[in-house]
Amino acid sequence: PSELGELVTSHMREIPDFPTLGVLFRDISPLFAAGEDFARFIRMLAAHYRGRIDAIAGLESRGFPLAAPLAVELGLPMIMIRKAGKLPGPVLREDYELEYATASMEIQPFTVAEDQRVLIVDDVLATGGTANASINLIERSGGIAQEFLVLMELTDLGGRARLPERVACQALLTL
Ligand code: 5GP
Repeated sequence: PSELGELVTSHMREIPDFPTLGVLFRDISPLFAAGEDFARFIRMLAAHYRGRIDAIAGLESRGFPLAAPLAVELGLPMIMIRKAGKLPGPVLREDYELEYATASMEIQPFTVAEDQRVLIVDDVLATGGTANASINLIERSGGIAQEFLVLMELTDLGGRARLPERVACQALLTL
């Protein structure tokens, strides 16, 4: 889907030294603010996934404005995967390593139906820690992690190699 990649390229910014010195942050906020281009982006994604998935999971927080309009466009359920402590229980939790700390993501398992094919969506794939945690949460909830979709993949950080082989990984843009 190269037209999708072009839309990402033309509506993202590269911010040096954010959130810390030495990090080049890829900011996708301009795409969300693009009006008709964002609507076209969502319609093209919906056309690509129509009939191939049963639900869409968004990763907090930039996965939410991708997953929600896609779910509405396709008439499918939207699942939230959030940072720990935000969702009322009962929840399932996955902890994973960051460079100098650990992070945790949670899901309300009732939001996933048994054997539902779930598309998981986020803005950026970096080390793959967040992606792996989200795949585990969907599978522990009884769903099938059908595909992991990101707008941008930072290939130097090797995230794709850390994902389980059974889950397809689609990046609209590789950087
Ligand atoms: P990972 O767990 O793969 O190391 O990091 C991916 C998570 O961190 C994603 O949820 C993503 O939103 C965020 N992230 C890491 N680097 C960037 C970046 O350069 N830009 C944006 N927008 N998000 C990033």
